Amino acid sequence: MAAARPGGVAASQSAWRAGTIFGLLGIAPDLDFLVGAHSSYTHSLGATILVGLAAWALFTPRSVPFALACAAAWGSHLLLDWLGTDGSVPIGVMALWPFDDGYYLSSAGWFLPIHRDFAQPGIVAHTFRAIAWELLLLGPIAAAAVWFRRR
Ligand SMILES: [Zn+2]
Repeated sequence: MAAARPGGVAASQSAWRAGTIFGLLGIAPDLDFLVGAHSSYTHSLGATILVGLAAWALFTPRSVPFALACAAAWGSHLLLDWLGTDGSVPIGVMALWPFDDGYYLSSAGWFLPIHRDFAQPGIVAHTFRAIAWELLLLGPIAAAAVWFRRR
């Protein structure tokens, strides 16, 4: 019978829990689709700060590094949207709200635009191309993060 490693299962469950929380926080800014305000307040520095404060206040034990990680997970969405392409008005994200309510988009164009008109010809193929491209760009970064975390 193998000896249990200290914190092996608990550490693994904790890592999965944190990964799930960070993953959900990474996609949560797009919930603004539900209220017809896409790319606005939820895609901002203000929302990122609020998420960090909420994580600090709501999760126990209170942890500044965990709160910062939650804010970084939320903020990563803003960064990736800013680096992408946007064909829907308003163009870009309201990145600096509440300090500035302008919309910003980098000229990098790293990611393909995501169309929301599902009746458009070729939309399914385009969406799969966009997903494949995002996986190609971000997969190695995610793999490196997992590798680094396990060391
Ligand atoms: Zn978004």
